[in-house]
Amino acid sequence: MNKKRQEIWNKSGGKCWYCGCVLADKWHADHFEPLGRLPNAISYNYEDTEYALIRTKVETKRVPLNPERDHIDNLVPACPSCNLMKGMSSVEGFREIIYRFIESLNSYSNQYKFAKKYGLIVESQEPVVFWFERQNAG
Ligand SMILES: [Zn+2]
Repeated sequence: MNKKRQEIWNKSGGKCWYCGCVLADKWHADHFEPLGRLPNAISYNYEDTEYALIRTKVETKRVPLNPERDHIDNLVPACPSCNLMKGMSSVEGFREIIYRFIESLNSYSNQYKFAKKYGLIVESQEPVVFWFERQNAG
């Protein structure tokens, strides 16, 4: 592990910043405040000499909205599943995504609905609390 990754890993002592699982070898450095990316249109004008036509080609490339957030102070260790699920969300957006899983499961998953009907799943109204929040509560 390089020095920068070691410093990020040390922030939690090797636990996922969000779910608190013990990080395996393949952990991610998550941007706590997301970089945010928007497609940036780039236009190219070029002349097709054979037909003497001017054509315009537009390509898109994703560019960070907040490149200053790509800084060690904003990087936290995360397990791949939390990092990928959080995506480009803020921590409150991530919390909202997790809350909505129950709604989504009740709408679309027959397996979930059956497991619930037979008492194998009990839903709770508990708030989603992340690992790093539990550390501050103590
Ligand atoms: Zn996690």
